[in-house]
Amino acid sequence: MTKTGTLYLVGAGPGDPDLLTLRAARLVSRADVLVHDGLVSQEILDLAPPSARLVSVAKSRARHTLPQDQINALLVREALAGRDVVRLKGGDPFVFGRGGEEAEDARAAGLRVEVVPGISAANGAAAAAQIALTHRDAASIVSFVAGQCKGLSDQDWSGLAGVGRTLVIYMGVKTSAKIAEKLMADGLAPDMPIAVIENATRPEMRVLRGPLAALEDIVTRQNVKSPALIVIGEVTAREDLVLARTALEAAA
Ligand code: SAH
Repeated sequence: MTKTGTLYLVGAGPGDPDLLTLRAARLVSRADVLVHDGLVSQEILDLAPPSARLVSVAKSRARHTLPQDQINALLVREALAGRDVVRLKGGDPFVFGRGGEEAEDARAAGLRVEVVPGISAANGAAAAAQIALTHRDAASIVSFVAGQCKGLSDQDWSGLAGVGRTLVIYMGVKTSAKIAEKLMADGLAPDMPIAVIENATRPEMRVLRGPLAALEDIVTRQNVKSPALIVIGEVTAREDLVLARTALEAAA
């Protein structure tokens, strides 16, 4: 009887290869098959051995190279054939990565599944931009939501953003106008500070700040592209507050 392979669902972190876990790096370096998203950086893929078969299942909002059920089927087929399959996903596999579905299908096929956490974009971006997602003086709640078009207006975000709260929006660049509208309709002040963090932890990272009312303007004028996160809350302006206070103190 042939041995059955294992499916490793591995988080690749937000981009900087140094943010890979040791477990992830080890698994990539001995993978038989490596199935990866578009978000996984080349430096990380370069850790795979020359013998590994690399399969890209890159997706974009407009273009789905491989539908999710076919990705699941590919993972199951390869692992059932006895190969150790590393499914490398941007950030953490269980945060907006459809890792849950891949794990379910693999378990249903009788495969062994191991999940390796990764640094999610919210954590990577917050660290790189020095925005504390929680702060004793500014926020004691943090929420992660998905901002893509589908079902956006049906999602109930009430209470997730506001004073004392931080809201991190994944996949919200294209819908930024609707997002700002939705949050203000829920009662959020137009001058609530926000930050847009594009390409977090990568050399080309940009951090753009402003009030909620200017969100769409910032995204359009600065031509913000995916991958980017939108962070809503007072924590995004802490740095400004500290600088303003220091300037006031210096002037006094
Ligand atoms: N599983 C991933 C999220 C996948 S959804 C994670 O845990 O991070 C894809 C979305 O993640 C992108 O649209 C973007 O909003 C966000 N994202 C991923 N990498 C990012 C990066 N380096 N900088 C900013 N946002 C990023």
